[in-house]
Amino acid sequence: MENIIIAGGGIAGLVSAICLSKLNCHILVIERDQEKDERLNNVNIFESWKRKGVPQFKHNHTYLLSMYKFFSNEHPELVSEFKKHGVNLYHINEMLPAELRSKLIRKTDTDLDMKKINCRRPTLESLLYDYAKSISSINILHNVKVINVLGECNGSSIDVRGVVTIVDGEKKEFLGSVIDAMGQSSKFVSWLEKMTDKPFLKDEQLCNTIYISRHYRLRNGQSELLFKGNRNYSYGTDLGYIRFNLFPNEKGYFSICILIHEREKELFDALKMPELFHKACLSIPEIAPWLESDKSVPVSEPLYFRGMKNRWNIFVENGSLRVKNFYAVGDSHVMTNPWAGKGCAYAMHQAQLLRQSFEKYTDLKMRANFFYQTTLNHLGNIFVMLKKESDYFNELAESDYVNFENNVNLQVLNKKEQGLKYWFLSSYWLAYKVAVMSNPFLMRRIIEENHLIKGYNTHLREIGTVIKVLMYMFKGKRNNLQKVKKKLNGPNKSELSRLLDIKQN
Ligand SMILES: Cc1cc2nc3c(=O)[nH]c(=O)nc-3n(C[C@H](O)[C@H](O)[C@H](O)COP(=O)(O)OP(=O)(O)OC[C@H]3O[C@@H](n4cnc5c(N)ncnc54)[C@H](O)[C@@H]3O)c2cc1C
Repeated sequence: MENIIIAGGGIAGLVSAICLSKLNCHILVIERDQEKDERLNNVNIFESWKRKGVPQFKHNHTYLLSMYKFFSNEHPELVSEFKKHGVNLYHINEMLPAELRSKLIRKTDTDLDMKKINCRRPTLESLLYDYAKSISSINILHNVKVINVLGECNGSSIDVRGVVTIVDGEKKEFLGSVIDAMGQSSKFVSWLEKMTDKPFLKDEQLCNTIYISRHYRLRNGQSELLFKGNRNYSYGTDLGYIRFNLFPNEKGYFSICILIHEREKELFDALKMPELFHKACLSIPEIAPWLESDKSVPVSEPLYFRGMKNRWNIFVENGSLRVKNFYAVGDSHVMTNPWAGKGCAYAMHQAQLLRQSFEKYTDLKMRANFFYQTTLNHLGNIFVMLKKESDYFNELAESDYVNFENNVNLQVLNKKEQGLKYWFLSSYWLAYKVAVMSNPFLMRRIIEENHLIKGYNTHLREIGTVIKVLMYMFKGKRNNLQKVKKKLNGPNKSELSRLLDIKQN
Protein backbone atom coordinates (compact mmCIF):
# COMPACT_ATOMS: atom_id res chain seq x y z
CA MET A 1 0.00 0.00 0.00
CA GLU A 2 1.24 3.46 -0.87
CA ASN A 3 2.21 5.88 1.93
CA ILE A 4 0.90 9.41 1.65
CA ILE A 5 2.22 12.07 4.00
CA ILE A 6 0.14 15.20 4.40
CA ALA A 7 2.11 18.02 6.00
CA GLY A 8 -0.41 20.29 7.79
CA GLY A 9 -3.82 19.39 9.19
CA GLY A 10 -5.80 22.55 8.39
CA ILE A 11 -8.63 22.68 5.85
CA ALA A 12 -6.46 21.57 2.88
CA GLY A 13 -4.81 18.77 4.87
CA LEU A 14 -8.10 17.43 6.21
CA VAL A 15 -10.01 17.57 2.93
CA SER A 16 -7.06 15.97 1.10
CA ALA A 17 -7.00 13.16 3.64
CA ILE A 18 -10.77 12.67 3.34
CA CYS A 19 -10.61 12.65 -0.49
CA LEU A 20 -7.62 10.31 -0.67
CA SER A 21 -9.10 7.92 1.88
CA LYS A 22 -11.16 6.43 -0.97
CA LEU A 23 -7.88 5.06 -2.39
CA ASN A 24 -6.11 2.01 -1.05
CA CYS A 25 -3.31 3.76 0.84
CA HIS A 26 -2.00 4.75 4.29
CA ILE A 27 -2.47 8.43 5.02
CA LEU A 28 -0.46 10.21 7.65
CA VAL A 29 -1.40 13.81 8.53
CA ILE A 30 1.35 15.67 10.40
CA GLU A 31 0.16 18.73 12.32
CA ARG A 32 2.27 20.97 14.52
CA ASP A 33 -0.61 22.31 16.65
CA GLN A 34 -2.05 20.51 19.63
CA GLU A 35 -4.94 18.10 19.28
CA LYS A 36 -8.53 19.26 19.76
CA ASP A 37 -9.71 18.44 23.24
CA GLU A 38 -12.21 15.58 22.82
CA ARG A 39 -14.30 16.95 25.68
CA LEU A 40 -15.07 20.20 23.86
CA ASN A 41 -18.31 20.46 22.00
CA ASN A 42 -18.66 22.60 18.91
CA VAL A 43 -19.96 25.63 20.78
CA ASN A 44 -16.92 26.25 22.96
CA ILE A 45 -14.48 24.97 20.36
CA PHE A 46 -14.39 28.51 18.98
CA GLU A 47 -12.79 29.82 22.15
CA SER A 48 -10.87 26.80 23.29
CA TRP A 49 -9.19 25.10 20.33
CA LYS A 50 -5.75 26.69 20.17
CA ARG A 51 -4.70 26.92 16.52
CA LYS A 52 -1.53 28.99 16.47
CA GLY A 53 -0.70 27.53 13.04
CA VAL A 54 -3.81 29.12 11.50
CA PRO A 55 -3.84 32.88 12.21
CA GLN A 56 -7.17 33.30 10.38
CA PHE A 57 -8.83 30.56 12.44
CA LYS A 58 -11.40 32.86 14.09
CA HIS A 59 -12.00 35.13 11.13
CA ASN A 60 -15.17 35.11 9.06
CA HIS A 61 -15.26 32.25 6.64
CA THR A 62 -17.83 31.43 4.03
CA TYR A 63 -17.72 28.41 1.75
CA LEU A 64 -18.52 27.92 -1.92
CA LEU A 65 -21.37 25.76 -3.18
CA SER A 66 -18.88 23.23 -4.56
CA MET A 67 -17.91 22.21 -1.03
CA TYR A 68 -21.40 21.21 0.02
CA LYS A 69 -22.03 19.50 -3.32
CA PHE A 70 -18.93 17.37 -2.86
CA PHE A 71 -19.71 16.44 0.76
CA SER A 72 -23.35 15.67 0.04
CA ASN A 73 -22.50 13.43 -2.93
CA GLU A 74 -19.51 11.63 -1.44
CA HIS A 75 -19.71 11.96 2.33
CA PRO A 76 -23.38 12.23 3.34
CA GLU A 77 -22.49 11.20 6.92
CA LEU A 78 -20.56 14.45 7.22
CA VAL A 79 -23.56 16.41 5.97
CA SER A 80 -25.65 14.79 8.70
CA GLU A 81 -23.10 16.08 11.20
CA PHE A 82 -23.38 19.58 9.73
CA LYS A 83 -27.13 19.46 10.25
CA LYS A 84 -26.78 18.05 13.75
CA HIS A 85 -24.54 20.96 14.70
CA GLY A 86 -26.89 23.60 13.31
CA VAL A 87 -24.70 24.61 10.35
CA ASN A 88 -26.66 27.04 8.19
CA LEU A 89 -27.23 25.68 4.69
CA TYR A 90 -28.48 28.07 2.01
CA HIS A 91 -29.92 26.98 -1.26
CA ILE A 92 -28.43 28.78 -4.28
CA ASN A 93 -31.81 30.45 -4.96
CA GLU A 94 -31.59 32.16 -1.58
CA MET A 95 -28.40 33.83 -2.75
CA LEU A 96 -30.22 35.75 -5.47
CA PRO A 97 -31.46 39.29 -4.81
CA ALA A 98 -35.06 39.31 -3.56
CA GLU A 99 -36.48 40.76 -6.78
CA LEU A 100 -34.94 37.94 -8.86
CA ARG A 101 -35.85 35.21 -6.40
CA SER A 102 -39.51 35.90 -6.97
CA LYS A 103 -39.06 35.47 -10.74
CA LEU A 104 -37.66 31.96 -10.37
CA ILE A 105 -39.98 29.26 -11.56
CA ARG A 106 -37.40 26.49 -11.58
CA LYS A 107 -38.28 23.52 -9.41
CA THR A 108 -35.71 23.39 -6.66
CA ASP A 109 -36.03 19.71 -5.80
CA THR A 110 -33.71 18.78 -8.68
CA ASP A 111 -30.77 20.64 -7.26
CA LEU A 112 -30.96 20.03 -3.54
CA ASP A 113 -27.19 19.67 -3.33
CA MET A 114 -26.69 23.28 -4.47
CA LYS A 115 -26.21 24.66 -0.99
CA LYS A 116 -23.82 26.97 0.69
CA ILE A 117 -22.32 26.08 4.06
CA ASN A 118 -22.36 28.91 6.58
CA CYS A 119 -20.69 28.40 9.93
CA ARG A 120 -17.74 29.67 11.90
CA ARG A 121 -14.49 28.16 10.71
CA PRO A 122 -13.64 26.36 13.97
CA THR A 123 -16.99 24.57 13.71
CA LEU A 124 -16.35 23.36 10.17
CA GLU A 125 -12.76 22.42 10.89
CA SER A 126 -13.77 20.56 14.02
CA LEU A 127 -16.41 18.54 12.11
CA LEU A 128 -13.93 17.78 9.31
CA TYR A 129 -11.35 16.78 11.89
CA ASP A 130 -13.69 14.39 13.73
CA TYR A 131 -14.78 12.87 10.44
CA ALA A 132 -11.19 12.40 9.16
CA LYS A 133 -10.23 10.83 12.47
CA SER A 134 -13.05 8.32 12.20
CA ILE A 135 -11.66 6.95 8.90
CA SER A 136 -9.39 3.98 9.59
CA SER A 137 -6.82 4.67 6.82
CA ILE A 138 -6.13 8.18 8.19
CA ASN A 139 -3.69 8.66 11.03
CA ILE A 140 -3.26 12.18 12.47
CA LEU A 141 -0.15 13.14 14.46
CA HIS A 142 -0.19 16.28 16.61
CA ASN A 143 2.58 18.42 18.11
CA VAL A 144 4.85 17.26 15.28
CA LYS A 145 6.57 19.89 13.17
CA VAL A 146 7.75 19.29 9.61
CA ILE A 147 11.20 20.89 9.35
CA ASN A 148 12.47 19.80 5.94
CA VAL A 149 11.82 17.82 2.80
CA LEU A 150 13.76 14.69 1.81
CA GLY A 151 14.80 14.27 -1.80
CA GLU A 152 17.44 14.91 -4.42
CA CYS A 153 17.82 16.88 -7.59
CA ASN A 154 18.02 14.75 -10.74
CA GLY A 155 18.84 17.03 -13.65
CA SER A 156 15.92 19.37 -14.19
CA SER A 157 13.59 17.97 -11.52
CA ILE A 158 13.64 17.18 -7.81
CA ASP A 159 12.59 13.71 -6.67
CA VAL A 160 10.91 14.00 -3.29
CA ARG A 161 11.02 10.97 -0.94
CA GLY A 162 9.51 12.20 2.31
CA VAL A 163 9.81 14.73 5.12
CA VAL A 164 11.92 15.38 8.20
CA THR A 165 10.03 16.21 11.39
CA ILE A 166 10.62 16.91 15.05
CA VAL A 167 8.80 14.47 17.32
CA ASP A 168 9.27 14.93 21.10
CA GLY A 169 12.46 16.92 20.46
CA GLU A 170 13.97 14.21 18.19
CA LYS A 171 14.38 14.30 14.42
CA LYS A 172 12.30 11.68 12.63
CA GLU A 173 11.90 10.93 8.93
CA PHE A 174 8.70 9.78 7.23
CA LEU A 175 8.82 8.34 3.70
CA GLY A 176 6.09 8.51 1.05
CA SER A 177 4.38 10.84 -1.41
CA VAL A 178 4.38 14.32 0.08
CA ILE A 179 1.43 16.68 0.13
CA ASP A 180 2.20 20.21 1.25
CA ALA A 181 -0.86 21.52 3.10
CA MET A 182 1.06 23.83 5.45
CA GLY A 183 -0.83 26.93 4.37
CA GLN A 184 0.37 30.39 3.50
CA SER A 185 3.59 30.18 5.55
CA SER A 186 4.69 26.80 4.16
CA LYS A 187 8.46 26.56 3.79
CA PHE A 188 8.45 23.75 1.21
CA VAL A 189 9.34 26.02 -1.70
CA SER A 190 12.40 27.40 0.11
CA TRP A 191 13.44 23.86 1.16
CA LEU A 192 13.08 22.67 -2.45
CA GLU A 193 15.02 25.67 -3.71
CA LYS A 194 17.99 24.65 -1.59
CA MET A 195 18.26 21.46 -3.69
CA THR A 196 18.51 23.32 -6.98
CA ASP A 197 20.27 26.46 -8.17
CA LYS A 198 17.15 27.87 -9.83
CA PRO A 199 14.46 29.61 -7.77
CA PHE A 200 10.81 28.61 -8.15
CA LEU A 201 8.67 31.23 -9.85
CA LYS A 202 5.54 32.69 -8.33
CA ASP A 203 2.79 34.99 -9.49
CA GLU A 204 2.21 37.32 -6.55
CA GLN A 205 0.20 40.45 -5.88
CA LEU A 206 -0.21 42.27 -2.58
CA CYS A 207 -3.92 42.89 -1.95
CA ASN A 208 -3.42 46.09 0.09
CA THR A 209 -6.54 45.29 2.04
CA ILE A 210 -7.33 45.14 5.74
CA TYR A 211 -9.94 42.61 6.78
CA ILE A 212 -11.72 43.32 10.08
CA SER A 213 -14.26 40.89 11.47
CA ARG A 214 -16.41 40.68 14.55
CA HIS A 215 -18.73 37.95 15.82
CA TYR A 216 -22.24 38.48 17.16
CA ARG A 217 -25.01 36.21 18.39
CA LEU A 218 -28.78 36.61 18.00
CA ARG A 219 -30.58 36.79 21.31
CA ASN A 220 -32.80 33.91 22.32
CA GLY A 221 -36.05 33.97 20.41
CA GLN A 222 -34.60 35.93 17.48
CA SER A 223 -34.25 34.08 14.24
CA GLU A 224 -32.59 34.80 10.99
CA LEU A 225 -35.89 34.13 9.23
CA LEU A 226 -37.05 37.37 10.69
CA PHE A 227 -34.56 39.15 8.49
CA LYS A 228 -35.19 36.93 5.50
CA GLY A 229 -38.81 38.08 5.41
CA ASN A 230 -37.56 41.62 4.92
CA ARG A 231 -37.56 42.77 1.29
CA ASN A 232 -34.30 44.62 1.80
CA TYR A 233 -32.70 41.56 3.30
CA SER A 234 -29.13 41.44 2.15
CA TYR A 235 -25.74 40.36 3.36
CA GLY A 236 -23.85 43.54 2.80
CA THR A 237 -22.92 46.50 0.74
CA ASP A 238 -20.02 47.93 -1.19
CA LEU A 239 -19.36 51.66 -0.88
CA GLY A 240 -16.13 51.74 -2.83
CA TYR A 241 -13.82 52.97 -0.07
CA ILE A 242 -15.27 50.37 2.34
CA ARG A 243 -17.15 47.08 2.03
CA PHE A 244 -19.40 45.40 4.59
CA ASN A 245 -20.51 41.80 4.62
CA LEU A 246 -22.62 39.82 7.04
CA PHE A 247 -22.33 36.04 7.42
CA PRO A 248 -25.17 34.19 9.18
CA ASN A 249 -23.48 31.26 10.88
CA GLU A 250 -24.65 28.31 12.96
CA LYS A 251 -26.93 28.47 15.99
CA GLY A 252 -27.69 32.19 15.82
CA TYR A 253 -24.06 33.28 15.53
CA PHE A 254 -23.29 35.74 12.79
CA SER A 255 -20.27 37.78 11.87
CA ILE A 256 -19.69 41.06 10.14
CA CYS A 257 -16.66 41.70 8.06
CA ILE A 258 -15.34 45.04 6.89
CA LEU A 259 -12.80 45.48 4.12
CA ILE A 260 -10.79 48.68 3.71
CA HIS A 261 -7.67 49.73 1.85
CA GLU A 262 -4.31 49.88 3.66
CA ARG A 263 -4.20 53.60 3.01
CA GLU A 264 -7.21 54.18 5.32
CA LYS A 265 -5.07 54.29 8.45
CA GLU A 266 -7.35 56.51 10.55
CA LEU A 267 -10.40 54.49 9.59
CA PHE A 268 -8.54 51.30 10.52
CA ASP A 269 -7.58 52.73 13.94
CA ALA A 270 -11.23 53.56 14.55
CA LEU A 271 -12.66 50.23 13.38
CA LYS A 272 -10.35 48.31 15.70
CA MET A 273 -12.35 49.80 18.58
CA PRO A 274 -15.44 47.69 19.40
CA GLU A 275 -17.84 50.60 19.84
CA LEU A 276 -16.77 52.32 16.61
CA PHE A 277 -16.90 49.08 14.64
CA HIS A 278 -20.46 48.68 15.90
CA LYS A 279 -21.34 52.29 15.08
CA ALA A 280 -20.00 51.95 11.54
CA CYS A 281 -22.10 48.80 11.03
CA LEU A 282 -25.19 50.59 12.33
CA SER A 283 -24.77 53.17 9.56
CA ILE A 284 -25.48 50.47 6.94
CA PRO A 285 -29.27 50.15 6.56
CA GLU A 286 -29.05 46.52 5.45
CA ILE A 287 -27.02 45.49 8.47
CA ALA A 288 -28.44 47.76 11.18
CA PRO A 289 -31.59 45.63 11.86
CA TRP A 290 -29.35 42.73 12.92
CA LEU A 291 -27.65 44.89 15.52
CA GLU A 292 -30.57 46.33 17.43
CA SER A 293 -29.85 45.82 21.12
CA ASP A 294 -32.89 43.59 21.66
CA LYS A 295 -31.89 41.37 18.69
CA SER A 296 -28.22 40.54 19.13
CA VAL A 297 -25.08 40.92 21.23
CA PRO A 298 -21.43 41.14 20.19
CA VAL A 299 -19.45 38.10 21.30
CA SER A 300 -15.94 39.04 20.18
CA GLU A 301 -13.68 42.01 19.77
CA PRO A 302 -12.99 43.20 16.22
CA LEU A 303 -10.26 40.94 14.79
CA TYR A 304 -8.12 42.13 11.95
CA PHE A 305 -5.88 40.61 9.29
CA ARG A 306 -3.38 42.42 7.05
CA GLY A 307 -0.73 41.70 4.45
CA MET A 308 -2.88 39.36 2.38
CA LYS A 309 -1.77 38.31 -1.07
CA ASN A 310 -2.96 36.67 -4.20
CA ARG A 311 -0.15 34.19 -4.82
CA TRP A 312 0.34 31.22 -7.14
CA ASN A 313 3.43 29.11 -6.62
CA ILE A 314 4.59 27.72 -9.95
CA PHE A 315 5.87 24.13 -9.97
CA VAL A 316 5.84 23.63 -13.75
CA GLU A 317 8.04 25.83 -15.85
CA ASN A 318 7.98 26.03 -19.67
CA GLY A 319 5.93 22.84 -19.72
CA SER A 320 8.49 20.99 -17.64
CA LEU A 321 7.72 19.63 -14.17
CA ARG A 322 10.18 20.79 -11.50
CA VAL A 323 9.28 18.40 -8.72
CA LYS A 324 8.04 14.80 -8.51
CA ASN A 325 6.19 12.96 -5.77
CA PHE A 326 5.25 16.33 -4.26
CA TYR A 327 1.87 18.09 -4.45
CA ALA A 328 1.03 21.49 -2.98
CA VAL A 329 -2.62 21.85 -1.98
CA GLY A 330 -4.42 24.87 -0.52
CA ASP A 331 -2.75 28.16 0.37
CA SER A 332 0.72 26.69 -0.05
CA HIS A 333 -0.04 26.49 -3.79
CA VAL A 334 -2.77 29.04 -4.51
CA MET A 335 -3.61 31.79 -2.06
CA THR A 336 -6.34 34.32 -2.80
CA ASN A 337 -7.73 37.50 -1.30
CA PRO A 338 -9.92 36.34 1.63
CA TRP A 339 -12.65 38.70 0.52
CA ALA A 340 -13.32 36.36 -2.39
CA GLY A 341 -14.05 33.57 0.13
CA LYS A 342 -12.54 30.97 -2.17
CA GLY A 343 -9.50 29.59 -0.32
CA CYS A 344 -11.15 26.58 1.33
CA ALA A 345 -13.11 25.61 -1.79
CA TYR A 346 -9.92 25.89 -3.87
CA ALA A 347 -8.22 23.53 -1.42
CA MET A 348 -11.18 21.15 -1.65
CA HIS A 349 -11.14 21.30 -5.46
CA GLN A 350 -7.42 20.55 -5.51
CA ALA A 351 -7.95 17.64 -3.12
CA GLN A 352 -10.34 16.12 -5.66
CA LEU A 353 -7.85 16.67 -8.48
CA LEU A 354 -5.24 15.00 -6.30
CA ARG A 355 -7.40 11.94 -5.92
CA GLN A 356 -7.96 11.82 -9.67
CA SER A 357 -4.17 12.07 -10.22
CA PHE A 358 -3.54 9.15 -7.88
CA GLU A 359 -6.34 7.08 -9.42
CA LYS A 360 -5.20 7.73 -12.97
CA TYR A 361 -1.41 7.43 -12.79
CA THR A 362 1.16 5.35 -10.94
CA ASP A 363 4.02 6.99 -12.83
CA LEU A 364 5.14 9.80 -10.51
CA LYS A 365 5.97 12.27 -13.26
CA MET A 366 2.69 11.80 -15.11
CA ARG A 367 0.78 11.97 -11.84
CA ALA A 368 2.29 15.28 -10.74
CA ASN A 369 2.03 16.69 -14.27
CA PHE A 370 -1.67 15.86 -14.36
CA PHE A 371 -2.23 17.41 -10.93
CA TYR A 372 -0.46 20.72 -11.67
CA GLN A 373 -1.90 21.00 -15.16
CA THR A 374 -5.51 20.36 -14.10
CA THR A 375 -5.12 22.76 -11.16
CA LEU A 376 -4.05 25.41 -13.64
CA ASN A 377 -6.88 24.57 -16.07
CA HIS A 378 -9.57 24.63 -13.39
CA LEU A 379 -8.44 27.47 -11.13
CA GLY A 380 -6.03 29.56 -13.23
CA ASN A 381 -8.57 31.85 -14.89
CA ILE A 382 -10.42 32.59 -11.62
CA PHE A 383 -7.07 33.48 -10.07
CA VAL A 384 -6.45 35.96 -12.92
CA MET A 385 -9.91 37.45 -12.37
CA LEU A 386 -9.25 37.81 -8.62
CA LYS A 387 -6.05 39.71 -9.34
CA LYS A 388 -8.03 42.05 -11.61
CA GLU A 389 -10.61 42.50 -8.85
CA SER A 390 -7.86 43.44 -6.41
CA ASP A 391 -6.59 46.04 -8.90
CA TYR A 392 -10.14 47.35 -9.25
CA PHE A 393 -10.51 47.58 -5.45
CA ASN A 394 -7.28 49.56 -5.27
CA GLU A 395 -8.61 51.93 -7.91
CA LEU A 396 -11.91 52.35 -6.08
CA ALA A 397 -10.18 53.02 -2.80
CA GLU A 398 -8.80 56.17 -4.38
CA SER A 399 -12.30 57.37 -5.09
CA ASP A 400 -15.03 58.61 -2.85
CA TYR A 401 -18.72 57.75 -2.76
CA VAL A 402 -19.68 60.01 -5.66
CA ASN A 403 -17.04 58.68 -8.00
CA PHE A 404 -17.94 55.18 -7.05
CA GLU A 405 -21.57 55.78 -7.83
CA ASN A 406 -20.56 56.87 -11.29
CA ASN A 407 -17.95 54.19 -11.61
CA VAL A 408 -19.89 52.22 -14.15
CA ASN A 409 -19.98 55.27 -16.36
CA LEU A 410 -16.26 55.80 -15.85
CA GLN A 411 -15.47 52.23 -16.71
CA VAL A 412 -17.45 52.34 -19.89
CA LEU A 413 -16.78 55.84 -21.10
CA ASN A 414 -13.28 56.72 -20.04
CA LYS A 415 -11.59 54.45 -22.54
CA LYS A 416 -9.06 55.92 -24.92
CA GLU A 417 -10.10 53.86 -27.91
CA GLN A 418 -13.08 55.16 -29.84
CA GLY A 419 -14.97 54.18 -32.95
CA LEU A 420 -17.51 51.56 -33.89
CA LYS A 421 -15.72 48.65 -32.19
CA TYR A 422 -15.60 50.52 -28.90
CA TRP A 423 -19.24 51.56 -29.22
CA PHE A 424 -20.27 47.95 -29.83
CA LEU A 425 -18.15 46.46 -27.01
CA SER A 426 -19.19 49.02 -24.41
CA SER A 427 -22.86 48.68 -25.38
CA TYR A 428 -22.59 44.89 -25.23
CA TRP A 429 -20.87 45.06 -21.83
CA LEU A 430 -23.60 47.30 -20.42
CA ALA A 431 -26.37 45.16 -21.85
CA TYR A 432 -24.69 42.09 -20.37
CA LYS A 433 -24.72 43.70 -16.92
CA VAL A 434 -28.41 44.53 -17.22
CA ALA A 435 -29.18 41.03 -18.49
CA VAL A 436 -27.47 39.52 -15.44
CA MET A 437 -29.29 41.85 -13.06
CA SER A 438 -32.65 41.07 -14.66
CA ASN A 439 -32.48 37.36 -15.38
CA PRO A 440 -32.46 34.94 -12.44
CA PHE A 441 -31.23 32.04 -14.57
CA LEU A 442 -28.27 33.96 -15.90
CA MET A 443 -27.40 35.20 -12.43
CA ARG A 444 -27.73 31.68 -11.03
CA ARG A 445 -25.45 30.39 -13.76
CA ILE A 446 -22.80 33.00 -12.87
CA ILE A 447 -23.05 32.05 -9.19
CA GLU A 448 -22.56 28.40 -10.19
CA GLU A 449 -19.42 29.32 -12.14
CA ASN A 450 -18.01 31.47 -9.33
CA HIS A 451 -18.69 28.62 -6.93
CA LEU A 452 -16.76 26.06 -8.98
CA ILE A 453 -19.87 24.12 -10.01
CA LYS A 454 -19.47 24.93 -13.70
CA GLY A 455 -16.51 26.06 -15.82
CA TYR A 456 -15.67 29.70 -15.12
CA ASN A 457 -17.12 32.17 -17.66
CA THR A 458 -18.38 29.38 -19.91
CA HIS A 459 -21.80 31.08 -20.10
CA LEU A 460 -20.26 33.95 -22.06
CA ARG A 461 -19.81 31.80 -25.15
CA GLU A 462 -23.27 30.24 -25.07
CA ILE A 463 -25.83 31.28 -27.67
CA GLY A 464 -28.56 31.69 -25.01
CA THR A 465 -26.46 34.32 -23.23
CA VAL A 466 -25.65 36.16 -26.44
CA ILE A 467 -29.34 36.34 -27.41
CA LYS A 468 -30.34 37.64 -23.96
CA VAL A 469 -27.64 40.31 -24.10
CA LEU A 470 -28.56 41.42 -27.62
CA MET A 471 -32.17 41.82 -26.51
CA TYR A 472 -31.09 44.27 -23.82
CA MET A 473 -28.70 45.95 -26.23
CA PHE A 474 -31.64 46.93 -28.43
CA LYS A 475 -33.12 48.83 -25.48
CA GLY A 476 -30.34 51.36 -25.88
CA LYS A 477 -27.18 52.35 -24.04
CA ARG A 478 -28.65 55.30 -22.16
CA ASN A 479 -31.44 53.15 -20.78
CA ASN A 480 -29.02 50.40 -19.74
CA LEU A 481 -26.66 52.90 -18.14
CA GLN A 482 -29.45 54.09 -15.86
CA LYS A 483 -30.22 50.51 -14.80
CA VAL A 484 -26.68 49.59 -13.84
CA LYS A 485 -26.00 52.75 -11.86
CA LYS A 486 -25.22 51.50 -8.39
CA LYS A 487 -27.73 52.26 -5.67
CA LEU A 488 -25.52 52.95 -2.71
CA ASN A 489 -26.78 52.28 0.73
CA GLY A 490 -24.60 53.86 3.36
CA PRO A 491 -22.51 56.89 4.27
CA ASN A 492 -19.84 58.39 2.06
CA LYS A 493 -16.31 58.70 3.39
CA SER A 494 -16.75 62.17 4.92
CA GLU A 495 -20.02 61.17 6.58
CA LEU A 496 -18.52 58.02 8.07
CA SER A 497 -15.46 59.96 9.24
CA ARG A 498 -17.70 62.46 11.00
CA LEU A 499 -19.74 59.68 12.54
CA LEU A 500 -16.64 57.96 13.90
CA ASP A 501 -14.99 61.23 14.82
CA ILE A 502 -12.04 60.69 12.48
CA LYS A 503 -9.96 63.60 11.26
CA GLN A 504 -9.76 63.51 7.48
CA ASN A 505 -6.35 63.94 5.83
C1 LIG B 1 -8.82 36.76 7.18
C2 LIG B 1 -9.09 35.59 6.29
C3 LIG B 1 -10.40 35.26 5.95
C4 LIG B 1 -10.65 34.19 5.09
N1 LIG B 1 -11.93 33.92 4.72
C5 LIG B 1 -12.18 32.87 3.89
C6 LIG B 1 -13.49 32.54 3.51
O1 LIG B 1 -14.45 33.21 3.84
N2 LIG B 1 -13.69 31.45 2.74
C7 LIG B 1 -12.65 30.68 2.30
O2 LIG B 1 -12.88 29.67 1.62
N3 LIG B 1 -11.40 30.99 2.62
C8 LIG B 1 -11.13 32.06 3.40
N4 LIG B 1 -9.85 32.35 3.75
C9 LIG B 1 -8.78 31.52 3.21
C10 LIG B 1 -8.68 30.23 3.99
O3 LIG B 1 -8.52 30.50 5.37
C11 LIG B 1 -7.49 29.43 3.49
O4 LIG B 1 -7.55 29.37 2.08
C12 LIG B 1 -7.50 28.04 4.03
O5 LIG B 1 -7.36 28.05 5.41
C13 LIG B 1 -6.33 27.27 3.43
O6 LIG B 1 -6.21 26.08 4.07
P1 LIG B 1 -4.78 25.43 4.24
O7 LIG B 1 -5.02 24.11 4.86
O8 LIG B 1 -4.03 25.53 2.97
O9 LIG B 1 -4.01 26.35 5.27
P2 LIG B 1 -4.31 26.52 6.83
O10 LIG B 1 -5.74 26.40 7.08
O11 LIG B 1 -3.59 27.75 7.22
O12 LIG B 1 -3.62 25.24 7.50
C14 LIG B 1 -2.24 25.02 7.50
C15 LIG B 1 -1.95 23.96 8.55
O13 LIG B 1 -0.58 23.57 8.48
C16 LIG B 1 -0.05 23.50 9.80
N5 LIG B 1 1.39 23.71 9.70
C17 LIG B 1 2.04 24.83 9.31
N6 LIG B 1 3.36 24.64 9.35
C18 LIG B 1 3.56 23.36 9.77
C19 LIG B 1 4.72 22.57 10.01
N7 LIG B 1 5.95 23.06 9.81
N8 LIG B 1 4.56 21.30 10.41
C20 LIG B 1 3.30 20.76 10.63
N9 LIG B 1 2.17 21.48 10.43
C21 LIG B 1 2.30 22.75 10.00
C22 LIG B 1 -0.77 24.63 10.54
O14 LIG B 1 -0.72 24.45 11.94
C23 LIG B 1 -2.17 24.48 9.97
O15 LIG B 1 -2.92 23.55 10.69
C24 LIG B 1 -9.58 33.42 4.59
C25 LIG B 1 -8.27 33.76 4.93
C26 LIG B 1 -8.02 34.83 5.76
C27 LIG B 1 -6.61 35.18 6.06
